[in-house]
Amino acid sequence: MSPSDEKAWRCSVCGYIHYGDTAPEACTICNTKSIDFKRIEVAIRPEARAPGKERVLVIGAGIAGISAAEEVRNHAPEAEIILIAKEDEFPYYRINLTRLLAGEIEEQVLPLRPTDWFETYRIEFMKGVAVKDLVLAEKALRIEDGTVIQYDKLIVATGAHPSIPPLAGTGLDGVFTAQTIEDARDILNTIKPGANVVCIGGGILGLEAAGAMAKRGCHVTVLEAFDYLMPRQMNPAGSEVLKKHLGTLGIEVLTSAMSDCLVGDGHISGVHLKRGMLIPADVVLLTAGDRANAELLQAAGLAVNKGVLVDNFLRTSNPDIYAVGDVAEHDGIRYGAWAAAMYQGKIAGMNAAGIPTEFGGIPRSHMLKVLGKPMLSIGVVTPPDGSYHMIEDHPDNNGYRMFMFRDGCIVGCLLIGKLKLLKAVRKAIQARSNLSELLGQKPTAQDVADFLSAM
Ligand SMILES: Cc1cc2nc3c(=O)[nH]c(=O)nc-3n(C[C@H](O)[C@H](O)[C@H](O)COP(=O)(O)OP(=O)(O)OC[C@H]3O[C@@H](n4cnc5c(N)ncnc54)[C@H](O)[C@@H]3O)c2cc1C
Repeated sequence: MSPSDEKAWRCSVCGYIHYGDTAPEACTICNTKSIDFKRIEVAIRPEARAPGKERVLVIGAGIAGISAAEEVRNHAPEAEIILIAKEDEFPYYRINLTRLLAGEIEEQVLPLRPTDWFETYRIEFMKGVAVKDLVLAEKALRIEDGTVIQYDKLIVATGAHPSIPPLAGTGLDGVFTAQTIEDARDILNTIKPGANVVCIGGGILGLEAAGAMAKRGCHVTVLEAFDYLMPRQMNPAGSEVLKKHLGTLGIEVLTSAMSDCLVGDGHISGVHLKRGMLIPADVVLLTAGDRANAELLQAAGLAVNKGVLVDNFLRTSNPDIYAVGDVAEHDGIRYGAWAAAMYQGKIAGMNAAGIPTEFGGIPRSHMLKVLGKPMLSIGVVTPPDGSYHMIEDHPDNNGYRMFMFRDGCIVGCLLIGKLKLLKAVRKAIQARSNLSELLGQKPTAQDVADFLSAM
């Protein structure tokens, strides 16, 4: 069979592309069932290589790096695998840091894998070591003490770092980011009940951090420069529902609130807004988004945009180097999300082990933790042009649901309050299900919800 005769199937949950006459019984990457695979046009894929004794280096021990290293071992028993990580910690659930801040969990439950995992998987773990640069001509990288380590395949999973707004005073004591376990420990060692905490940035991280600080008995103010909360994942109507809910938790939200500077005499004492207000602060959390840790690859001359550019095989512009997780940009999207980082890590691991495997992209989706009000944002939630059609309502007065359609297909959804539809919505969006017939009947949001539940 020539490659062009091959049939291809895309997993609607993780984006994995399977080749064969039929969809697989279960997805290799996320274990979802055959029914969730959809037939797609075939791209010609490279030949598989026999797994050898190659050396695979992985930079970064977050979920993307760990998943990649694990998958290399699963498919290349003889490979030498080295995982290099800047943080001097065993890999942990970064997504649960806000739960730790809120006091919902203890540090002991944060590790991603047991400490003997490295031995079991025969992975050399260089912890607390930063990679300084790549020497492409030698297929090598240099770590901070000057040691040069060569690779046959390199998987870059260096994640992202918090954006620090260009404001005076961000270096004052009491000003923190919330990206690492060390950040969380520093915050917990500083805050006290009754403290004034200001979160600069009203995206998901800012709101979860605000919820966590409120649970610790702090007075919390969220400053969002945009005119509504979570502008990347929410629409104004949904944001208003969230804002009201935050009010019930004692969290004050100021939108269109541009910070001017942070003030204090050694320690932070307040945040000046451009509109002339001074918000008192004993602690400031900088939660205004993040940026890809792409500098290693950029300095080496690889193609970088918002993240390191990768193709469907998660290869960068250098065929021996893969990039996955928060550092990578696939098909215009830098996901910045746990599940995508895990799936991409696994797929790059298989590719590095010699098994050509493609990532077909997944709809972006986000949920909120800590705040005690479930929220799902998936796919397109603010229409980029007039070709989209939105159906919304406010069930139970303090909830919200919105379904976004284009060309008869559901392409996005917001749910606040109840998430019973989560699975059905995700499946319908990923499978690009056509709901034209229903839309012809001018349905209400309740009709759409009933239809999706019955699918
Ligand atoms: C507090 C918080 C809560 C979150 N909650 C959610 C959530 O609920 N749902 C969700 O989907 N996503 C959430 N996210 C985002 C999610 O955690 C990330 O998308 C995911 O962790 C990305 O994984 P990664 O492996 O790509 O990168 P990371 O987890 O960032 O790991 C990258 C690692 O690479 C290391 N590194 C960087 N440069 C070097 C170098 N030069 N040398 C060696 N090592 C290096 C870094 O130190 C880091 O340890 C949250 C993020 C934060 C910070």
